Amino acid sequence: MKFCIINLGCKVNKVESDSFAAALLAQGHQASELAEAELVIINTCTVTGEAEKKTRKTTRQALTRAPQARVIVTGCAAALHAETFSSMDKRVEVVEKSRLFELLQQQNNVWLANKGFRTRVGVKVQDGCNNACTYCIVHVARGRATSISANHIVRECKALAEAGVKEIVLTGINLGSYYDDTFDTTSPLTLAGLLHLLLDETKDIHNDDEPPVRFRVSSIEPKDVDEAFIDLLASSQGRICRHLHLPLQSGSSKVLKEMARPYDAAYFAALVEKLYARVPQLSLSTDIIVGFPGETDQEFEETCELARVCRFSKIHVFPYSKREGTPAAQRLDQIDPEVKAVRAAQLRDIAQQLRQEDFKRRLNGSEWVLIEEGGIGMTESYHEVALKREYVSGKLVYVSLADEIDE
Ligand code: SF4
Repeated sequence: MKFCIINLGCKVNKVESDSFAAALLAQGHQASELAEAELVIINTCTVTGEAEKKTRKTTRQALTRAPQARVIVTGCAAALHAETFSSMDKRVEVVEKSRLFELLQQQNNVWLANKGFRTRVGVKVQDGCNNACTYCIVHVARGRATSISANHIVRECKALAEAGVKEIVLTGINLGSYYDDTFDTTSPLTLAGLLHLLLDETKDIHNDDEPPVRFRVSSIEPKDVDEAFIDLLASSQGRICRHLHLPLQSGSSKVLKEMARPYDAAYFAALVEKLYARVPQLSLSTDIIVGFPGETDQEFEETCELARVCRFSKIHVFPYSKREGTPAAQRLDQIDPEVKAVRAAQLRDIAQQLRQEDFKRRLNGSEWVLIEEGGIGMTESYHEVALKREYVSGKLVYVSLADEIDE
């Protein structure tokens, strides 16, 4: 059978979609273009109103472009509005994600690694979120925070390392809430404990001429960055990539409060200062929403200022988009779309400048770079670079950035 998987939304969705593909390939099915597919799986997203609109449009397009295909719709938007999708066509089947895993995921990611499916492999360790940010519907769609058992994660990561994977990206909706009290009943594992365990269990799985697998934390909420986590980041010599995605969302304490984010601007700035002091090589990326209801020019300026202070290496800029069912969507002081567009463009300019500055600072040094396809590498600091020399893809190589980057 020919299948096509369409992934929308966050990194967790991407990891899940890769697992769907791995399971299907393992059973001898064949990945294909949409037009030839007999089975289409759409992993949907509902993070913003725009994302949900795109999800509906994508499903309609799949029905048209793959006229023979059975279309399975899963994920956050499908969980919230199953009827919207199932009423589109009798070929559409809405399947709850964990059920779809049961149906498809007979093999785990080990197979995926053996096939050289991707050089960087995501492993989902957590799902759901106990926060209630006022712009977000994901915590409703995904439900309360849950964690996958450390035993299971260790088994999966060891198998991936044995299969030659060199970077494992730990993913979750709210990774910092990781908690497992089944592994050691006297001392429950948090994210730092899990990482310790993973480093230890995989440290000897490598050839003599290369380092062991490294881990990347896909995203962590500011309040979850505790001392144990910082200690580990500072001492692991890059086995935990010294790159964190730390969502800021706004640099205005007033806006943060209205977003129900559990920190203010001063807390975030102090955390970043501490992180840079303890881990000087650290690269920080972030998410920022511009044009949240009621955001004034002055509050937007505070965001730009804090972004500069934090020297982010990458900023994902999101113009605020109303998400029905959230408190922020009810507000009457929505920001004019043109104002949002202007603010987004201004912040993207700042982001680009900061990214260039971050990379320039790194040019004097060396980093372990994961070689991907086509002469492209991913630095520990999460810069994608073109390399002058040819390396075998999938390897980790120590590269002098000034000498070996093709600018
Ligand atoms: S932390 Fe906030 S934005 Fe992130 S999933 Fe939880 S509620 Fe949503």
